[in-house]
Amino acid sequence: MLFDSHCHLDFDRFDTDREAVFERAHAAGVSRFLVPGTTRQRWPAVLDLGERDDVVVSLGLHPYFVEAHADSDLEALAEEIGRHEHLVGIGECGIDARFEDTLEQQWSLFEAQLQLAKRHRLPIIIHCVHADDQVAKRLRQLDLPARGLIHAFGGSPQQARRFLDLGYSLGLGGAVTYDRAKRLHRAVQSIPDDGFVLESDSPDMPLSGRQGQRNEPAHLMETAESVARLRGQTRESVIANAWVNTHRLFGLDADG
Ligand SMILES: [Zn+2]
Repeated sequence: MLFDSHCHLDFDRFDTDREAVFERAHAAGVSRFLVPGTTRQRWPAVLDLGERDDVVVSLGLHPYFVEAHADSDLEALAEEIGRHEHLVGIGECGIDARFEDTLEQQWSLFEAQLQLAKRHRLPIIIHCVHADDQVAKRLRQLDLPARGLIHAFGGSPQQARRFLDLGYSLGLGGAVTYDRAKRLHRAVQSIPDDGFVLESDSPDMPLSGRQGQRNEPAHLMETAESVARLRGQTRESVIANAWVNTHRLFGLDADG
């Protein structure tokens, strides 16, 4: 069974066929889903999805939408975390250095969410683009009790090693299916069996051959196959390791 450890099934791109997306995922062997919140406006839809037996949720303020966030959203986030015991983490949050103009704001939002993760002993779900070195440095200083996930990891073997040494897990998604991603492939080969989880990042990160299309969790098996091929392991062992790793990371019962 596959656990899609990162999918935005609350996004309106799924409004017309969300049930069918879940059905196709289950038919393709994907039986659990983590839906991370991205903006305060979307948290209610995320929490609604969390009512499903096959979905767990987290709440956060995503750096991509930095201009949509107000300072009061951080207070609201702290309140929501206090109110909803079933949240499995804080995020999606982090740094996207492609957007240089907002970096200062991004860091202040990220820092506040790191502090929430520390205070509530929850794992943090990190979006990290072109900022691996700075983010790793901050994580080392903070020593978060529940560690967390570097979602959609796309770095080098050295960057992978640094996050793993700090106790963080790496999320592997559609990027691994591209032949040209040689550096990432070397990183995937270097990760120990207990260091990775699988994710679709739906509706983003389409797999090789599906560029331009909406991604959905049903395609996660293809990512598992690519990871298995790269690691010289069976698909079954990759799926089993990712399943156990995702449950351990988010404090979930792997049998339940
Ligand atoms: Zn995401």
